Amino acid sequence: MERALGAPEKMRERYEDLTPMMRQYCDLCGRYDGSLVLFQVGDFYETFCEAAEVSARLLEITLTKREDSTGSYPMAGIPIDSAESYIETLLDAGFRVAVADQVQDPEEASGVVERAVTRIVTPGTLTEDELLRSEDNNYVAALAREEEYGLAFLDVSTGDFVATGSSSEETIRDEISRFAPAEAIVGPGIEGFDGFDSAERSSAGSQTWSGDSDCMVTPYDPAKFEVESARALLDSYFGAPEKRLASDAEIAACGALLAYAEYTRGGQEGHLDYLNHLTRYEPREYMLLDRVALRSLELFEPRAVGGDAGNTLLGVLDETACALGRRKLTDWLRRPLLDPVRIDARLDAVEEWTTLVSAREEVHDLLIDVYDVERLIARVSRGRANARDLRALKDTLDRVPEIREAMADVESDTLCSLREDLDELGEVRDLIDRAIAESPPIEVTEGDVIAPGYDADLDSLRETEREGKAWIDSLERRERERTGIDSLKVGFNQVHGYYIEVTNPNLDQVPENYTRRQTLKNSERFYTPELKEREDEIITAEERADDLEYEIFTDVRSEVAGESERVQAVAETLATLDVLVSLATVAAKYGYARPEIADEPGIEIEGGRHPVVERTQESFVPNGARLAPEERLAVLTGPNMSGKSTYMRQIALITILAQIGSFVPASGARVGIVDRVFTRVGASDDIAGGRSTFMVEMGELATILRGASERSLVLLDEVGRGTSTADGLAIARAITEYVHDEVGALTLFATHHHELTALAADLESAFNLHFAATQAEEGVTFRHDVSRGAATASYGIEVARAAGVPERVVERSRALVAAEEADTESATDGGEPATASGGDGPLAERLRSLDVANMTPIEALTTLDRLKRDLD
Ligand code: ADP
Repeated sequence: MERALGAPEKMRERYEDLTPMMRQYCDLCGRYDGSLVLFQVGDFYETFCEAAEVSARLLEITLTKREDSTGSYPMAGIPIDSAESYIETLLDAGFRVAVADQVQDPEEASGVVERAVTRIVTPGTLTEDELLRSEDNNYVAALAREEEYGLAFLDVSTGDFVATGSSSEETIRDEISRFAPAEAIVGPGIEGFDGFDSAERSSAGSQTWSGDSDCMVTPYDPAKFEVESARALLDSYFGAPEKRLASDAEIAACGALLAYAEYTRGGQEGHLDYLNHLTRYEPREYMLLDRVALRSLELFEPRAVGGDAGNTLLGVLDETACALGRRKLTDWLRRPLLDPVRIDARLDAVEEWTTLVSAREEVHDLLIDVYDVERLIARVSRGRANARDLRALKDTLDRVPEIREAMADVESDTLCSLREDLDELGEVRDLIDRAIAESPPIEVTEGDVIAPGYDADLDSLRETEREGKAWIDSLERRERERTGIDSLKVGFNQVHGYYIEVTNPNLDQVPENYTRRQTLKNSERFYTPELKEREDEIITAEERADDLEYEIFTDVRSEVAGESERVQAVAETLATLDVLVSLATVAAKYGYARPEIADEPGIEIEGGRHPVVERTQESFVPNGARLAPEERLAVLTGPNMSGKSTYMRQIALITILAQIGSFVPASGARVGIVDRVFTRVGASDDIAGGRSTFMVEMGELATILRGASERSLVLLDEVGRGTSTADGLAIARAITEYVHDEVGALTLFATHHHELTALAADLESAFNLHFAATQAEEGVTFRHDVSRGAATASYGIEVARAAGVPERVVERSRALVAAEEADTESATDGGEPATASGGDGPLAERLRSLDVANMTPIEALTTLDRLKRDLD
């Protein structure tokens, strides 16, 4: 593991002279040298030396000094009660945090209190609810390399554990962006992995996965990546890893990831019981949506910085009732299906829910009361759940039979089998109900956790306690009668225990058997032998009861943990139900239609809408679309703001929705399975540090050209805008031709360059679409409806005229446009390739002779670059 801080130099130098506590600190820092150690001293977590300086700066806490006989050490501390928010800041700054707690009662310690690291908090292995977002999984990834790559993802807060593998770096990168892990550990041989090379180093010495993702990457102990030890560890969890996984690299990745997960639990808990499932998937099982596509289609995040998070596909689809469903919906969106049978099964369920309105609403309302039992049961298994968590689990299980009941009338296979999968877990529910108090406190060591009637010993201890207290309660009355002192009071304080208080004027009436306990200004406090005896009885009973309660509680918790697999299965089913109900709700509310899923390529949409844009404005103009192998490339022209990119994106979004099993915003749709959606939308919004817009754009285009197939959907919007017009047009054209001829993907190509409409005539399976605008008194208005054919290119001129540009200029512009159009048409008529610039200049001449379609993108680029230099 990367050395982040380690033991402070100053302490290591004089190790032998250090006080025992500082030696302990120094040892822990050395042992957990990849992490910043938070060292419990009473109610604070302290840091010393360099770590203190770093913490003081990052956390804006005071830097003080610890002085002892061996010297003076910088020190900074945070209160344990509010540690989580400070830890979050440290994580954001790129640190791992090792929490070293006192693991011994200071009163029992003979020397220095024993301390141990109880957890290591890292971005990818968070389990604290305060640090986690409920709508999304939080993954840590492991990447291993043997013959090929093995890749694994684990969400330690839920136990979700998946693996995949491939020999292609590209595929691995795509899968990484699909899961967007918060953290990754890598094995030997990964150094050369493209994506690390350009990685920047964060302040804590970890790498960031690539440009703009927030993934913390660390090389991890190579021994943990060794296939044999990985296999053995996996075997202890799941048995026979080779049956589940496809390669040694996958075994290595999964094994190392498990070892890392155990390590971050501070080695205290060893085996992580709640990791019950390891699922392998093939990258080919799901539609691929790379990072660029996820962002430009705004699946999860709005493109505009600070944009409304509701204005995303996830936002408009999310009518889920509980966190389980929300995470599942995110997962479905990340992984649209490719198998028509599985998609139809989901669609059947959604369709059925759209018809069973009241049952659907009932199930939704019941699901609102469902807790995040996935994370809850993980806490139970890790021994970190409190009594309230168990009660929450019981409350959730109470809903299960009710949900089954509400589903009494379902008929589709999918919903029937979900209903059957709803395990009511009656024993677990009864156990919690009998054992755990109805509204227990958060603390589990201070009593009131176990319900009366569950344990006879406990009940009798509580009875003794209660009797004693009742005796004391009546003592005041009895003593007043006995002594005749009306102002006599019986009270209790933490230091002195129970006492009888008599004010100074009445002290002469105090009976013989009173012993003085405490003297106050206006009164004296006493006890009697009987009171003392009762007090001891109460205290002993109370202490024993509290201890016994804790013991019983941990027993109950372990028993529940033993059923974690079944609880996880219920959570999974509830999550799926929630998503299906949510999809049906959206479909009903916004008039979506069931898409027909086809095996052969082609997309046909009637009256399609953009699911997000239609919600953000008053009216939306529906548009149809048709792409098929024989008409697979649409060149889309129209002025800016006429609706081109909205149109292209809505086609992609409808396809994605269909493949997650959702109804779609259209009056009808037929979607032939699409294997990936590529986008290149907008020219200026993806600038990564240092790289020019144009380079970014070309990089993405290269990806498209390499990765697309005839089953892909490619969206190109204003490609080539990042460079001078002639170059841009030439590249745009060359690329479009390549996609058309070589890749054969379904493609939408939007441009405001009218010249490119000539492509449709040249390429066999290309056609033109355009967005028109109307000229009215008050200026140009956009109708936002798409039509066949190329747009006429004169809106700009009309706008200019309306704006009062001199008539001579307007006339001249018209003439130029007419000449250009004539040129384009003659090229089309004559069957000759049209030129990129539309004129007959030397560039056009040279371009005509180029066989761009047979070039790799890089060749095309260099050729064009050379061309441009020649011409200059
Ligand atoms: P372009 O890509 O042609 O510049 P956009 O697709 O960005 O245009 O659309 C511009 C604006 O027009 C959008 O922000 C949206 O508000 C509106 N718009 C687009 N398509 C439609 C439509 N079909 N119905 C109603 N308004 C639309």
